[in-house]
Amino acid sequence: MSGRVLVVDDVATNRLLLRAKLSSAYYDVSVAENGHQALEIARREQPDMIMLDVMMPDLDGFDVCARLKAAEETAHIPVVMVTALDTPEERIRGLEAGADDFLSKPFNDLALFARVRNLMRMKMMFDELRLRDMTSRELGLTDFISEQEMELDVGGSILLAPPCLTEGSSWAVELESRLNLSTIVTYSEREALNLARLEQPDCFVVHRRLMEGGDGLRLVSALRARPETRQSAVILVVDTGDVANAAKGLDLGASDYIEAPFDANELIVRVRSQLRRKRYSDRLRTNVRNGLKMAVIDPLTGIYNRRYATQHLHRVMERARETDGVFAVMMMDLDKFKSINDRFGHDAGDAVLKEFSRRLQENIRGVDLVARFGGEEFFVAMPDIDHAAAAAAAERIRRAVEGAPFVVPGADPIQVTVSIGVAIAGPADREAEAIIKRADSALYEAKDKGRNRVTFFAAAA
Ligand code: GH3
Ligand code: MG
Ligand code: MG
Repeated sequence: MSGRVLVVDDVATNRLLLRAKLSSAYYDVSVAENGHQALEIARREQPDMIMLDVMMPDLDGFDVCARLKAAEETAHIPVVMVTALDTPEERIRGLEAGADDFLSKPFNDLALFARVRNLMRMKMMFDELRLRDMTSRELGLTDFISEQEMELDVGGSILLAPPCLTEGSSWAVELESRLNLSTIVTYSEREALNLARLEQPDCFVVHRRLMEGGDGLRLVSALRARPETRQSAVILVVDTGDVANAAKGLDLGASDYIEAPFDANELIVRVRSQLRRKRYSDRLRTNVRNGLKMAVIDPLTGIYNRRYATQHLHRVMERARETDGVFAVMMMDLDKFKSINDRFGHDAGDAVLKEFSRRLQENIRGVDLVARFGGEEFFVAMPDIDHAAAAAAAERIRRAVEGAPFVVPGADPIQVTVSIGVAIAGPADREAEAIIKRADSALYEAKDKGRNRVTFFAAAA
């Protein structure tokens, strides 16, 4: 994976130095010599990451970073600010402008490359999520969300694994008073992992050395390995200058690190930006999941649509071949549904469709699959069922509809009936559509014979 890095610095030798370092690690490097050029190249070339000098004439690094983060096309590109003058105030200012980290010149190669690898990995994960999210959006399945808009004051919890009691309580006091978060403090690796499972915190702050003899790096690695915490933010705390462990932590999957002793403000901004990113990735994931769901779910009734049901029928057929079993496919259609709409209105019609799908689901087994094919036409696939059992099931469904009038809001109770066509199929059947057609023609026959009845496809009967 060779990522593309944009190096921004007003001093030519600095640009050359960083370009040489990054190129030697096989990154593709482009350069900009001032802020305006940086903004322009970032927009046009969409690099995977930006190394941004702080002190530049005209637009300085803080301004450039803030502008990158404010524009939709560049907001997602990780930014590392670099400076020769590393003070806590500067660092906090950079992080507040939206930078992912602050590195000081001259570079420590270990710290530099661990950070670059870490941010590249994160960027790729986000790119993939954003791409899938974009597809759902283009299909009109979900709405656009931006990382910048993520609400931070929505509560949540943070787990602290400090090196001692006093540190633990001072971190907790700062975080609770400055962010709307509840904190959980623990001093051992094992307890941290148990609490992680129980409480599912959004963020972890883990010191390299835990009070009760634990190893913070091992904890970071364990948190990353577990499905329930894989997406959480993890900030590793190392001693100032302990570059080796910071780099190890980033490579193990920590989202960020902070050098202790630190200014409480720095912890706050780092936690804030990790939380924002966590919320954003959660939202993207939910969006993608909902989008996928919407592609196969009928919005009115909440049951599967034809696309999904057909796919599912293929699986039922495969299983029948493997087990030499028989299965049933039913097509059903509400009788004189148009007149329900005409007499009671479209909304009442919708309510009848919902109530029908509810009664339908109540009268089938867990292994059966119900779908709405469109309009007032429904489908059921019933694996491992013979003619007699399918007849009993279809009759049970027919009676469940006829047996009690449908109570819908804004209308008198409505008498509803359904016609059902059934096709029995087995290992010899190779075409899903052909089976559905057989059930369909049985359904026509049921309509023909006067509706409110169950009819089997003749050849199978
Ligand atoms: P039959 O007994 O022969 O099936 O008669 P029918 O009136 O049920 O059949 P027809 O196909 O003539 O009418 C179906 C009606 O279903 C027409 C259409 O307006 C209505 N319909 C289709 N989809 C929906 C929907 O989502 N909501 C509502 N309320 N009505 C729908
Ligand atoms: Mg400069
Ligand atoms: Mg109908």
